[in-house]
Amino acid sequence: MAICGRVGPLPAETNLSAMILIKTVSQLKQTLASFRRSELTIGFVPTMGALHEGHISLLQAARQENPITVVSVFVNPTQFNNAGDFEKYPQTLSQDIRLLEEAGATLLFLPSVAEMYPQGTADMEHYALGFLETVLEGAYRPGHFQGVCQVVSRLLDQVEPDHLYMGSKDYQQCMVVKKLIELKNSPVVLHTCPTRRETDGLAMSSRNLRLNAEEREKAPAIYQCLQYLQSNLQPGPLQGLTETATQNLTEAGFKVDYVAIHQADNLAPITQWDGHTRLVGLVAAYLNEVRLIDNLVLNENID
Ligand code: AMP
Repeated sequence: MAICGRVGPLPAETNLSAMILIKTVSQLKQTLASFRRSELTIGFVPTMGALHEGHISLLQAARQENPITVVSVFVNPTQFNNAGDFEKYPQTLSQDIRLLEEAGATLLFLPSVAEMYPQGTADMEHYALGFLETVLEGAYRPGHFQGVCQVVSRLLDQVEPDHLYMGSKDYQQCMVVKKLIELKNSPVVLHTCPTRRETDGLAMSSRNLRLNAEEREKAPAIYQCLQYLQSNLQPGPLQGLTETATQNLTEAGFKVDYVAIHQADNLAPITQWDGHTRLVGLVAAYLNEVRLIDNLVLNENID
């Protein structure tokens, strides 16, 4: 996995002025073929819209390394294990278009569900993700990562990007997509970009739009919980640390799915820390109806 470089300006000659908006796969392929004939590399940022600075930072990283940047906005029904969550997923399309235009995206792909799933959503391919889909988000959101693979696989086939940009905010998703790329034997290079946060530490997320004022005030406790894990990490058993952090978050008004520490390089579970293995802390917790996730690498200053 490549890590994104620093955000910076592109040379003027690569600054294509008007963003192209495309809704069908056939138009997308036709348009991208002309760029490919000119040997221009394509950087791709898949999203579900309700865009914020975190998404835009992925686009900026893509622009730094590719003359052509494609962003998709598609709320993918097959990755929602909860119908209510899908229905309430925030949609801010006109603002998204403005943000992407201002940030200099070359092309916005805006497919419909029928365009992405022409054969429907029954009898879809199964991806052998192994233990990655049995832990953490995989355990709490059955089928979620199969749905993620359905859409990312289709988008990779449609866009055929040279570089793919994803956020480490969704740490496990990045590992799943890395596995998907291996399974597909795809030449695309995955870049994992750092999490953008609000000034109080809350990880930017489209779901933050669903928080009311009181919930928004409480929400940074998730990042504080991760910082607590980081500052209290010691060699030896890890269970006491995650139990205390879970209790703190529960007392702060959250319904906790998990506060966990796993090996950062492969997400394998770990119960005893040797003082060296890279670790990541991961949290998923509800504030009333809204489920938030976040993570922090605990023994490395990279986040
Ligand atoms: P989503 O629209 O939530 O599916 O996210 C689209 C992409 O943006 C994914 O690769 C996310 O990991 C990434 N992303 C979401 N939030 C952030 C953030 N706060 N900072 C950086 N990247 C993010």
